[in-house]
Amino acid sequence: MPQAFITGVTGQDGSYLAERLLREGWGVHALVRSARDASEQPLNADVTSHVGDLGNPQSVAQIIADVEPDVVYNLAGISSVALSWQEPELTSRVTGTSVAAMLEAAWKLQEKVGRPVRFLQASSSEIFGAATERPQSETTPVRPVSPYGAAKAYAHHVVGVYRGRGMLASAAILYNHESPRRPETFVTRKITAAAASISLGLSDSVSLGNLDARRDWGWAPDYVDAMIRIAAADSADDYVVATGEAHTVREFVAAAFAAAGITDWEPFVKIDPRFNRPVDAPEMVGDATKLRTTLGWEPTVDFSDLVGQMVKNDLQLLSR
Ligand code: GDP
Repeated sequence: MPQAFITGVTGQDGSYLAERLLREGWGVHALVRSARDASEQPLNADVTSHVGDLGNPQSVAQIIADVEPDVVYNLAGISSVALSWQEPELTSRVTGTSVAAMLEAAWKLQEKVGRPVRFLQASSSEIFGAATERPQSETTPVRPVSPYGAAKAYAHHVVGVYRGRGMLASAAILYNHESPRRPETFVTRKITAAAASISLGLSDSVSLGNLDARRDWGWAPDYVDAMIRIAAADSADDYVVATGEAHTVREFVAAAFAAAGITDWEPFVKIDPRFNRPVDAPEMVGDATKLRTTLGWEPTVDFSDLVGQMVKNDLQLLSR
């Protein structure tokens, strides 16, 4: 049975990835921060958990040596741009330098067991920051504008370094991807939860920051499918994972309120500068042509479907 080691398993992508790999007959090992963490956020019973801390990368390297995985999926890190502005130094360690330790551990394991150890890095559109072109592709210059983007940029580069050394190390450059499993620290879920709550008369307003930001929002399970394809490819490479379609936060708000039965949403939305970022990329939109043509990837859920599914889920949760 092939073995996968996943970091970030309690997050949106990690949970979808673990479920899918288990369905496909993989043994799934996962990093958890503490035994208490694992019991508070119950993992699928078939996932083997290992306690380690990305702030102490050597602990994670030791787990890789012990588990001897065929593939390492590195999905962990400070998960949001907003949080990285509050914790820039922690972000650089947890999201950035820990990746060098994991790659080195995978490299040593590969030498010991005499077979490839594949590495899939969940890279991010945030590495392009103030992008010099639109849409962005694998050749767009890396120019982050947030501590999160800078840490992801370092991780992205070090994956390239190990690929150059001969490792099957790839980066999936993920644009924003959402699902009902998104926490409300992300604008999409914050909006769908608020639209559902307001439509049921449970609250009367939501406060948001920059409504003009344009983002390329995809469906998280489609992005997990991309990660699996990229990790399994014959040769390692970098791939943009995106829909190619950008919408403003304002359009997301309008679509979510409409899905909850409210056409005139403006009276319910307050603008609060506390939710503005020190620097916010005005638009991120990706060109996934390489992934589509070389690995046959196709997104299955479009923007209005995505918003509709998230609102439906929030309405169901609140109606219970
Ligand atoms: P991330 O920036 O990729 O971590 O994703 P988010 O969902 O947090 O933010 C996406 C965009 O929504 C950014 O441009 C934010 O500035 C913008 N935004 C506007 N209002 C809010 C808000 O209230 N919360 C968050 N998280 N983002 C907001």
